[in-house]
Amino acid sequence: MSLPCKTKARDNGVTVHTEISTVNKKKVNLIGLNREELENAISSLGYENFRAKQIWHWIYHRGVTHFEQMTTLAKTVRKELDQYFDIQRPSIIREQLSSDKTRKWLLGPPGGGEIETVFIPENDRGALCISSQVGCALSCKFCNTGTQPLVRNLTPSDIVGQMLVARDTYGEWPSSEGRNLLSNIVMMGMGEPLLNFENVKRALRIIMDPEGIAVSKRRITLSTAGYVPLMERCGEEIGVNLAVSLHAVRNDLRDEIVPLNRKFPIDELLHACRAYPGVNNSRRITFEYIMLKGINDSEADAKELCRLIRGIPSKVNLIPFNTWPGAPYECSDENQIKKFAQIINAEGYSSPVRRPRGRDIYAACGQLKSDTERKVRARN
Ligand code: SAH
Repeated sequence: MSLPCKTKARDNGVTVHTEISTVNKKKVNLIGLNREELENAISSLGYENFRAKQIWHWIYHRGVTHFEQMTTLAKTVRKELDQYFDIQRPSIIREQLSSDKTRKWLLGPPGGGEIETVFIPENDRGALCISSQVGCALSCKFCNTGTQPLVRNLTPSDIVGQMLVARDTYGEWPSSEGRNLLSNIVMMGMGEPLLNFENVKRALRIIMDPEGIAVSKRRITLSTAGYVPLMERCGEEIGVNLAVSLHAVRNDLRDEIVPLNRKFPIDELLHACRAYPGVNNSRRITFEYIMLKGINDSEADAKELCRLIRGIPSKVNLIPFNTWPGAPYECSDENQIKKFAQIINAEGYSSPVRRPRGRDIYAACGQLKSDTERKVRARN
Protein backbone atom coordinates (compact mmCIF):
# COMPACT_ATOMS: atom_id res chain seq x y z
CA MET A 1 0.00 0.00 0.00
CA SER A 2 1.39 3.37 -0.83
CA LEU A 3 0.99 6.57 1.05
CA PRO A 4 -2.26 8.46 0.46
CA CYS A 5 -1.45 11.73 -1.29
CA LYS A 6 -3.26 14.88 -0.28
CA THR A 7 -2.28 16.52 -3.53
CA LYS A 8 -1.03 14.98 -6.69
CA ALA A 9 2.73 14.49 -6.68
CA ARG A 10 4.52 16.45 -9.36
CA ASP A 11 5.49 14.47 -12.37
CA ASN A 12 8.32 16.30 -14.06
CA GLY A 13 10.22 13.34 -15.39
CA VAL A 14 12.83 13.43 -12.65
CA THR A 15 13.87 10.06 -11.30
CA VAL A 16 12.61 9.87 -7.77
CA HIS A 17 14.49 7.63 -5.38
CA THR A 18 11.86 8.05 -2.75
CA GLU A 19 9.31 5.29 -2.96
CA ILE A 20 7.21 5.92 0.10
CA SER A 21 5.54 2.80 1.29
CA THR A 22 3.64 1.94 4.44
CA VAL A 23 4.26 -1.77 3.85
CA ASN A 24 7.91 -1.81 4.83
CA LYS A 25 8.14 0.81 7.50
CA LYS A 26 11.64 1.90 6.46
CA LYS A 27 11.95 5.67 6.47
CA VAL A 28 13.38 7.48 3.47
CA ASN A 29 16.62 9.28 4.21
CA LEU A 30 16.40 12.86 2.94
CA ILE A 31 20.19 13.30 2.91
CA GLY A 32 21.45 12.91 -0.64
CA LEU A 33 18.22 13.85 -2.43
CA ASN A 34 18.64 16.79 -4.77
CA ARG A 35 16.20 19.68 -4.62
CA GLU A 36 13.76 18.19 -7.11
CA GLU A 37 13.75 14.83 -5.43
CA LEU A 38 13.22 16.49 -2.07
CA GLU A 39 10.28 18.45 -3.50
CA ASN A 40 8.81 15.24 -4.89
CA ALA A 41 9.23 13.44 -1.59
CA ILE A 42 7.62 16.27 0.34
CA SER A 43 4.81 16.73 -2.16
CA SER A 44 3.93 13.04 -1.83
CA LEU A 45 2.75 14.02 1.65
CA GLY A 46 0.75 16.87 0.13
CA TYR A 47 3.14 19.67 1.04
CA GLU A 48 4.01 22.52 -1.27
CA ASN A 49 7.45 23.24 -2.68
CA PHE A 50 8.28 26.03 -0.27
CA ARG A 51 8.29 23.40 2.50
CA ALA A 52 11.01 21.55 0.65
CA LYS A 53 13.00 24.79 0.48
CA GLN A 54 12.62 25.24 4.22
CA ILE A 55 13.65 21.64 4.91
CA TRP A 56 16.68 21.98 2.58
CA HIS A 57 17.74 25.03 4.58
CA TRP A 58 17.36 23.23 7.90
CA ILE A 59 19.28 20.17 6.74
CA TYR A 60 22.13 21.71 4.78
CA HIS A 61 22.44 25.26 6.09
CA ARG A 62 21.61 24.73 9.74
CA GLY A 63 22.73 21.11 9.97
CA VAL A 64 19.81 19.82 12.04
CA THR A 65 19.49 16.08 12.59
CA HIS A 66 15.84 15.83 13.70
CA PHE A 67 12.59 17.18 12.32
CA GLU A 68 11.59 18.49 15.74
CA GLN A 69 14.41 21.06 15.41
CA MET A 70 12.74 22.57 12.33
CA THR A 71 10.96 25.28 14.26
CA THR A 72 9.63 27.15 11.22
CA LEU A 73 7.37 24.15 10.54
CA ALA A 74 4.20 23.47 12.50
CA LYS A 75 4.53 20.72 15.09
CA THR A 76 2.05 18.53 13.23
CA VAL A 77 4.10 18.86 10.05
CA ARG A 78 7.28 17.93 11.89
CA LYS A 79 5.56 14.89 13.35
CA GLU A 80 4.27 13.75 10.00
CA LEU A 81 7.66 14.19 8.33
CA ASP A 82 9.24 12.15 11.10
CA GLN A 83 6.87 9.29 10.37
CA TYR A 84 8.08 8.81 6.82
CA PHE A 85 11.52 10.40 6.56
CA ASP A 86 14.74 10.70 8.44
CA ILE A 87 17.94 12.73 8.29
CA GLN A 88 20.49 10.01 8.71
CA ARG A 89 24.24 10.49 8.77
CA PRO A 90 26.87 7.75 8.61
CA SER A 91 27.59 6.28 12.05
CA ILE A 92 31.06 6.82 13.54
CA ILE A 93 32.71 3.42 14.06
CA ARG A 94 36.13 4.70 15.05
CA GLU A 95 37.66 8.15 15.30
CA GLN A 96 41.31 9.08 15.74
CA LEU A 97 42.97 12.42 16.32
CA SER A 98 46.65 12.73 15.43
CA SER A 99 49.10 14.80 17.43
CA ASP A 100 49.28 17.05 14.33
CA LYS A 101 45.46 17.50 14.56
CA THR A 102 44.71 15.36 11.51
CA ARG A 103 41.46 13.57 12.24
CA LYS A 104 40.36 10.30 10.76
CA TRP A 105 36.96 8.69 10.98
CA LEU A 106 36.00 5.14 10.13
CA LEU A 107 32.36 5.54 9.15
CA GLY A 108 29.45 3.20 8.64
CA PRO A 109 27.37 4.84 5.89
CA PRO A 110 23.61 4.17 5.85
CA GLY A 111 24.03 2.02 2.73
CA GLY A 112 26.40 -0.41 4.50
CA GLY A 113 30.12 -1.17 4.56
CA GLU A 114 32.92 0.89 6.09
CA ILE A 115 34.71 3.93 4.72
CA GLU A 116 37.36 6.40 5.79
CA THR A 117 37.13 10.17 5.91
CA VAL A 118 40.08 12.33 6.90
CA PHE A 119 40.33 15.97 7.89
CA ILE A 120 43.69 17.68 7.38
CA PRO A 121 43.77 21.08 9.09
CA GLU A 122 46.06 23.86 7.93
CA ASN A 123 46.09 26.85 10.35
CA ASP A 124 42.67 28.51 9.94
CA ARG A 125 41.45 26.26 7.11
CA GLY A 126 41.64 22.66 6.03
CA ALA A 127 40.70 19.94 3.59
CA LEU A 128 38.28 17.12 4.10
CA CYS A 129 39.28 13.98 2.21
CA ILE A 130 36.12 12.16 1.15
CA SER A 131 35.67 8.56 -0.05
CA SER A 132 33.69 7.65 -3.15
CA GLN A 133 33.51 3.84 -2.94
CA VAL A 134 33.64 1.06 -0.34
CA GLY A 135 36.94 -0.55 -1.32
CA CYS A 136 38.38 0.01 -4.80
CA ALA A 137 38.64 -1.94 -8.05
CA LEU A 138 41.89 -0.39 -9.28
CA SER A 139 44.48 -2.34 -7.22
CA CYS A 140 47.20 0.32 -7.33
CA LYS A 141 50.18 -1.47 -5.89
CA PHE A 142 51.24 1.10 -3.31
CA CYS A 143 47.72 1.68 -1.99
CA ASN A 144 46.31 -0.10 1.03
CA THR A 145 42.75 0.33 -0.22
CA GLY A 146 43.91 -1.41 -3.40
CA THR A 147 44.27 -4.61 -1.35
CA GLN A 148 40.58 -4.42 -0.46
CA PRO A 149 38.00 -5.55 -3.00
CA LEU A 150 35.43 -3.13 -4.38
CA VAL A 151 32.28 -3.68 -2.32
CA ARG A 152 29.99 -1.01 -3.71
CA ASN A 153 29.64 2.52 -4.98
CA LEU A 154 28.75 5.07 -2.33
CA THR A 155 25.38 6.76 -2.79
CA PRO A 156 24.99 10.56 -2.79
CA SER A 157 23.71 10.20 0.77
CA ASP A 158 26.86 8.33 1.87
CA ILE A 159 29.10 10.93 0.20
CA VAL A 160 27.32 14.06 1.46
CA GLY A 161 27.01 12.36 4.87
CA GLN A 162 30.81 12.42 5.28
CA MET A 163 30.78 16.21 5.06
CA LEU A 164 27.89 16.42 7.52
CA VAL A 165 29.70 14.26 10.09
CA ALA A 166 32.78 16.50 9.78
CA ARG A 167 30.71 19.68 10.13
CA ASP A 168 28.99 18.19 13.20
CA THR A 169 32.35 17.32 14.74
CA TYR A 170 33.72 20.84 14.30
CA GLY A 171 30.41 22.53 15.09
CA GLU A 172 30.46 24.41 11.79
CA TRP A 173 26.76 25.14 11.52
CA PRO A 174 25.14 27.24 10.15
CA SER A 175 27.04 27.03 6.89
CA SER A 176 27.77 30.66 6.22
CA GLU A 177 29.00 31.68 9.63
CA GLY A 178 32.47 33.17 9.25
CA ARG A 179 35.29 31.25 7.68
CA ASN A 180 35.09 27.55 8.09
CA LEU A 181 37.93 25.31 9.12
CA LEU A 182 36.35 22.79 6.76
CA SER A 183 37.04 25.07 3.81
CA ASN A 184 38.14 22.61 1.12
CA ILE A 185 37.18 19.18 -0.12
CA VAL A 186 39.34 16.63 -1.86
CA MET A 187 37.76 13.56 -3.41
CA MET A 188 40.89 11.57 -2.57
CA GLY A 189 39.62 9.03 -0.09
CA MET A 190 38.87 5.40 -0.79
CA GLY A 191 37.75 4.50 -4.29
CA GLU A 192 37.94 5.97 -7.78
CA PRO A 193 35.46 8.86 -8.02
CA LEU A 194 35.17 8.72 -11.82
CA LEU A 195 34.05 5.09 -11.60
CA ASN A 196 31.13 6.31 -9.49
CA PHE A 197 30.57 9.41 -11.59
CA GLU A 198 26.80 9.97 -11.31
CA ASN A 199 26.67 9.63 -7.53
CA VAL A 200 29.78 11.76 -7.04
CA LYS A 201 28.30 14.42 -9.32
CA ARG A 202 24.98 14.43 -7.48
CA ALA A 203 26.70 14.59 -4.10
CA LEU A 204 29.06 17.41 -5.08
CA ARG A 205 26.20 19.41 -6.53
CA ILE A 206 24.44 19.19 -3.17
CA ILE A 207 27.65 20.18 -1.38
CA MET A 208 28.14 23.15 -3.74
CA ASP A 209 24.54 24.44 -3.49
CA PRO A 210 24.86 28.04 -2.26
CA GLU A 211 21.79 27.73 -0.04
CA GLY A 212 23.21 24.77 1.81
CA ILE A 213 26.68 23.49 2.60
CA ALA A 214 27.94 26.00 0.02
CA VAL A 215 31.50 24.88 -0.69
CA SER A 216 32.53 26.55 -3.95
CA LYS A 217 33.74 24.43 -6.86
CA ARG A 218 37.05 26.27 -6.68
CA ARG A 219 37.60 24.70 -3.28
CA ILE A 220 36.87 21.15 -4.41
CA THR A 221 39.41 18.85 -6.07
CA LEU A 222 38.61 15.47 -7.54
CA SER A 223 41.48 13.03 -7.80
CA THR A 224 41.50 10.32 -10.45
CA ALA A 225 43.91 7.50 -11.22
CA GLY A 226 43.22 8.37 -14.86
CA TYR A 227 39.80 7.17 -15.94
CA VAL A 228 40.06 9.06 -19.24
CA PRO A 229 36.50 8.53 -20.60
CA LEU A 230 34.90 10.68 -17.90
CA MET A 231 37.48 13.40 -17.39
CA GLU A 232 35.88 15.83 -19.81
CA ARG A 233 32.42 15.34 -18.28
CA CYS A 234 33.92 15.87 -14.84
CA GLY A 235 35.10 19.33 -15.92
CA GLU A 236 31.93 20.17 -17.79
CA GLU A 237 29.24 18.80 -15.48
CA ILE A 238 30.86 19.16 -12.06
CA GLY A 239 33.40 21.89 -12.77
CA VAL A 240 35.75 21.06 -9.92
CA ASN A 241 39.55 21.11 -9.95
CA LEU A 242 41.25 18.00 -11.19
CA ALA A 243 44.11 16.04 -9.64
CA VAL A 244 45.66 13.16 -11.54
CA SER A 245 47.56 10.35 -9.84
CA LEU A 246 50.39 10.05 -12.33
CA HIS A 247 53.07 8.33 -10.20
CA ALA A 248 55.19 7.10 -13.14
CA VAL A 249 56.53 8.52 -16.39
CA ARG A 250 56.89 5.27 -18.37
CA ASN A 251 54.05 3.01 -19.40
CA ASP A 252 55.82 -0.20 -18.34
CA LEU A 253 56.16 1.06 -14.75
CA ARG A 254 52.76 2.76 -14.64
CA ASP A 255 51.11 -0.43 -15.99
CA GLU A 256 52.51 -2.15 -12.94
CA ILE A 257 51.81 0.34 -10.16
CA VAL A 258 48.58 1.87 -11.52
CA PRO A 259 47.07 -1.03 -13.52
CA LEU A 260 44.37 1.26 -14.98
CA ASN A 261 47.21 2.52 -17.20
CA ARG A 262 46.92 -0.65 -19.29
CA LYS A 263 43.57 0.67 -20.52
CA PHE A 264 44.42 4.38 -20.61
CA PRO A 265 48.15 4.87 -21.14
CA ILE A 266 50.10 8.00 -20.28
CA ASP A 267 49.75 9.81 -23.63
CA GLU A 268 45.94 9.40 -23.64
CA LEU A 269 45.78 10.53 -20.03
CA LEU A 270 47.85 13.64 -20.70
CA HIS A 271 45.81 14.42 -23.79
CA ALA A 272 42.67 14.41 -21.61
CA CYS A 273 44.45 16.69 -19.14
CA ARG A 274 45.30 19.19 -21.87
CA ALA A 275 41.64 19.17 -22.90
CA TYR A 276 40.23 19.42 -19.36
CA PRO A 277 37.43 22.03 -19.48
CA GLY A 278 38.34 25.27 -17.74
CA VAL A 279 42.00 24.46 -17.28
CA ASN A 280 44.20 27.56 -17.32
CA ASN A 281 46.98 29.16 -15.33
CA SER A 282 44.73 30.11 -12.46
CA ARG A 283 43.04 26.69 -12.48
CA ARG A 284 45.83 24.21 -12.81
CA ILE A 285 45.75 20.47 -12.86
CA THR A 286 47.56 18.86 -9.95
CA PHE A 287 49.74 15.90 -10.86
CA GLU A 288 50.21 13.66 -7.86
CA TYR A 289 53.45 11.75 -7.78
CA ILE A 290 54.13 9.25 -5.02
CA MET A 291 57.80 8.92 -4.08
CA LEU A 292 58.82 5.24 -4.12
CA LYS A 293 62.44 4.52 -3.29
CA GLY A 294 64.42 3.22 -6.27
CA ILE A 295 61.24 2.77 -8.33
CA ASN A 296 60.16 6.13 -9.77
CA ASP A 297 62.34 8.69 -8.01
CA SER A 298 65.44 9.12 -10.23
CA GLU A 299 66.57 12.44 -11.65
CA ALA A 300 65.87 11.07 -15.13
CA ASP A 301 62.29 10.40 -14.01
CA ALA A 302 61.96 14.00 -12.84
CA LYS A 303 63.21 15.33 -16.19
CA GLU A 304 60.89 13.04 -18.13
CA LEU A 305 57.99 14.20 -15.95
CA CYS A 306 58.70 17.81 -16.93
CA ARG A 307 58.86 16.86 -20.59
CA LEU A 308 55.53 15.02 -20.40
CA ILE A 309 53.54 17.77 -18.75
CA ARG A 310 55.07 20.65 -20.72
CA GLY A 311 52.35 23.08 -21.79
CA ILE A 312 49.74 21.81 -19.35
CA PRO A 313 48.85 24.46 -16.73
CA SER A 314 49.77 22.32 -13.76
CA LYS A 315 51.65 21.77 -10.56
CA VAL A 316 53.22 18.62 -9.24
CA ASN A 317 52.41 17.37 -5.77
CA LEU A 318 55.14 15.06 -4.51
CA ILE A 319 53.71 12.59 -2.00
CA PRO A 320 56.10 10.74 0.31
CA PHE A 321 54.94 7.13 0.28
CA ASN A 322 52.99 6.35 3.44
CA THR A 323 53.85 2.78 4.28
CA TRP A 324 51.50 0.12 5.63
CA PRO A 325 51.98 -3.46 6.89
CA GLY A 326 52.97 -5.69 3.97
CA ALA A 327 53.57 -2.80 1.54
CA PRO A 328 55.92 -3.75 -1.31
CA TYR A 329 57.68 -0.33 -1.39
CA GLU A 330 59.63 2.07 0.74
CA CYS A 331 59.47 5.84 0.77
CA SER A 332 62.23 7.68 -1.10
CA ASP A 333 64.95 9.33 0.99
CA GLU A 334 64.37 12.91 1.93
CA ASN A 335 67.36 14.05 -0.10
CA GLN A 336 66.15 12.28 -3.21
CA ILE A 337 62.71 13.89 -2.84
CA LYS A 338 64.40 17.30 -2.55
CA LYS A 339 66.48 16.72 -5.69
CA PHE A 340 63.41 15.56 -7.56
CA ALA A 341 61.45 18.63 -6.47
CA GLN A 342 64.29 20.96 -7.48
CA ILE A 343 64.41 19.62 -11.03
CA ILE A 344 60.68 20.17 -11.46
CA ASN A 345 60.88 23.59 -9.88
CA ALA A 346 63.71 24.62 -12.17
CA GLU A 347 61.39 23.92 -15.10
CA GLY A 348 58.93 26.44 -13.70
CA TYR A 349 56.44 24.07 -12.07
CA SER A 350 55.43 24.43 -8.47
CA SER A 351 56.35 21.14 -6.79
CA PRO A 352 55.38 21.14 -3.13
CA VAL A 353 56.24 18.03 -1.15
CA ARG A 354 53.17 16.94 0.74
CA ARG A 355 53.99 17.02 4.43
CA PRO A 356 53.26 13.59 5.88
CA ARG A 357 50.28 14.02 8.18
CA GLY A 358 48.66 11.78 10.72
CA ARG A 359 51.38 9.15 10.60
CA ASP A 360 50.44 8.12 14.14
CA ILE A 361 46.84 7.37 13.13
CA TYR A 362 47.11 5.11 10.09
CA ALA A 363 46.90 7.95 7.61
CA ALA A 364 47.58 5.94 4.46
CA CYS A 365 44.49 5.44 2.36
CA GLY A 366 42.60 2.35 3.55
CA GLN A 367 44.86 1.77 6.53
CA LEU A 368 42.41 2.45 9.33
CA LYS A 369 39.91 0.10 7.75
CA SER A 370 42.54 -2.64 7.27
CA ASP A 371 43.76 -2.20 10.84
CA THR A 372 40.21 -2.44 12.19
CA GLU A 373 39.62 -5.63 10.21
CA ARG A 374 42.89 -7.11 11.54
CA LYS A 375 41.83 -6.35 15.12
CA VAL A 376 38.41 -7.92 14.57
CA ARG A 377 40.07 -11.04 13.10
CA ALA A 378 42.46 -11.22 16.08
CA ARG A 379 39.54 -11.01 18.50
CA ASN A 380 37.61 -13.84 16.82
N1 SAH B 1 41.41 6.79 -7.03
C1 SAH B 1 41.76 8.16 -6.89
C2 SAH B 1 41.53 8.75 -5.51
C3 SAH B 1 41.95 7.93 -4.33
S1 SAH B 1 43.67 7.80 -4.01
C4 SAH B 1 43.20 8.37 -7.34
O1 SAH B 1 43.87 7.39 -7.61
O2 SAH B 1 43.63 9.51 -7.46
C5 SAH B 1 44.14 9.42 -3.54
C6 SAH B 1 45.64 9.68 -3.58
O3 SAH B 1 46.30 9.00 -2.50
C7 SAH B 1 46.26 9.18 -4.86
O4 SAH B 1 47.15 10.10 -5.39
C8 SAH B 1 46.97 7.94 -4.36
O5 SAH B 1 47.96 7.61 -5.26
C9 SAH B 1 47.45 8.36 -3.01
N2 SAH B 1 47.86 7.24 -2.14
C10 SAH B 1 47.26 6.05 -1.99
N3 SAH B 1 47.94 5.26 -1.13
C11 SAH B 1 49.00 5.99 -0.70
C12 SAH B 1 50.08 5.73 0.22
N4 SAH B 1 50.19 4.58 0.84
N5 SAH B 1 50.99 6.72 0.40
C13 SAH B 1 50.87 7.91 -0.22
N6 SAH B 1 49.87 8.21 -1.09
C14 SAH B 1 48.94 7.26 -1.33
